[in-house]
Formats: sequence, C-alpha cells, structure tokens
Amino acid sequence: MSSVKFLTERVAVVTASTKGIGFAIAKRLGLDGASVVVSSRKERNVKEAVTALRLEGIDVDGIVAHVGIAGDRKKLLDFALDRYGKLDILVSNAAVNPHYGDLLNITDAQWDKLLQLNVQASFLLTKEAVPHLEKTGNGNIVFVSSLAGYAPIEGIGAYSIMKTALMGINKTLSQSLAHRNIRVNAIAPGIIRTDFSKMLTENPEPSANIDVRRTIPLGRIGEADECAGAVSFLVSDEASYMTGETIGINGGMHSRV
Ligand code: NAP
Repeated sequence: MSSVKFLTERVAVVTASTKGIGFAIAKRLGLDGASVVVSSRKERNVKEAVTALRLEGIDVDGIVAHVGIAGDRKKLLDFALDRYGKLDILVSNAAVNPHYGDLLNITDAQWDKLLQLNVQASFLLTKEAVPHLEKTGNGNIVFVSSLAGYAPIEGIGAYSIMKTALMGINKTLSQSLAHRNIRVNAIAPGIIRTDFSKMLTENPEPSANIDVRRTIPLGRIGEADECAGAVSFLVSDEASYMTGETIGINGGMHSRV
C-alpha cells in the first residue's frame, strides 16, 4: 500500500488484536491512518500491544475484552465510542480451536466453545456494532474466516465448520446491511505463522504437520502482516463496490472450492 493515509479519521475496533493476525491488522489500519482500539483477554497483552503500536506512531488505545462475554463485548464498543466518538470499522478476528483430531471425537464442551466463540460472539458483537457503524454512513465490517471455511482441513473439522458458518454470516449480513451503507467482507487466510497455527506447523505428532512443500504452491507458510493489507483495502474507499466477498490469502493452497 502507498504511504497515503487513506483511513484518516476512521475509527476501527479489532478483536483479539494483541498478537498474530489481529495485531497485524490493527497495525496496518493504524499505519494507514485509522485510530484503532485493540483488545484481548489479558491485560498484559493489551498493554504491550498498545505500547508497540504507539511506537509506530499509531493513534491507538486498548481494553481487555473476552469476545465470549456479553459484558465485555459491550464494554469494547462503549470504550471505542467514549474514546473516539464513533465507530467506522469492526474487524471480528477472534477464534479458538480447542479440538484437534477426528470430528466425531469432539466433546460437547469443545463443540459449545467453538460455536460460542467463533460464530455466536462474532455475530452478536457485529449486531451490537451495527447502529454505530450505520451512523457514520460508511461503515465496514470484516470477518476473519479461514481457508478451512471453504474446504475442511484435516484434524480441524469442527473449526472448519465454524469458519464456513462465518462465511454464511458474511454473505447474509452483506445483503441485509447494504441499504444501511455498511459493507461486509471477509478474509480467508491459509496457514499463517502464529501461535494459533502451531498445531499444524509444530505438532508433536509429525504426521499432523502440514507438508508445506506439497500443499502450499508458494512453498512457505504466510506471515501475519501478509493478511493485513487485504483488510485495509476492503475497508477503504478503493473497495467501495465490494460487499459479501471473501479474499483468500493462502499462498495458492487449494483455494476456494
Ligand atoms: P493468535 O496468534 O493465537 O492470536 C490470538 C489473539 O487472540 C491473541 O491476541 C489473544 O490474546 C486473543 N484471544 C484469544 N482468545 C480470545 C478471546 N476469547 N477474546 C478476545 N481475544 C482473544 O491467533 P491468529 O492465528 O492470529 O488467529 C486470528 C484469527 O485468524 C482467528 O480467527 C483464526 O481462526 C484466523 N486464522 C488463522 C490462521 C493461521 O494459520 N494462523 C489461518 C486462518 C484463519 P489473549 O490471550 O490476551 O486473549
């Protein structure tokens, strides 16, 4: 992207943004001129992320917010509104994966957690943000889905199902929010080097690890920063006629089906 700060005067909230892909997205939006609110469960992580982003010259603040807790979701939006007076961009990035292995061996508790955090929390936070996004007349929502949402990745079947559901939310909301001048899009990363992907890249069971050379045409795992530019583009005026789309960022890995 250019050095023009094309997101100046926009306010963005990014969930789960103190590490990994969320942090990279917060940084990119901030470098492109937006004021950014970062958040995650642990206060230490929030403080570290805010410090690191301020060192980059970004207008940023942060708050502890667990996306699975209704009070925290409200607190996150209220914080952004109190601090910056409005909300233009919501990036719903948080997800967990408590289960690896055969889908039918998943416990009820693991299934509930996946559904609650990866799908329900994303939808409910978005629902709560809509009236604020609408007020700006140019609101944007971006969901962080996954390549696994298009075609299930072995060993993470339940997670894949949740990411497919997120794509359904993306498409459905894009239809219902278009007339309210809110665009809704998603990104679908492939295998990106973060703590989250270690189960596929550093699994103690060697056969569980992704065969990078065989499965990723570009021949390497992606970096979190490589996911961020697409989000900045989607929320920018350059993408003003795009809604309901999902951009794959996967090194060519069995792209969308
Ligand atoms: P990550 O590096 O493990 O980062 C996780 C971040 O989420 C941390 O900031 C963590 O901070 C926060 N977090 C965890 N649980 C949370 C919760 N309940 N509420 C709020 N914040 C929470 O993960 P990542 O790889 O960047 O993944 C980010 C998104 O990308 C997820 O939606 C994931 O499904 C998606 N994705 C990742 C990959 C990949 O290969 N990495 C591929 C496709 C899609 P605290 O510990 O302080 O809460």
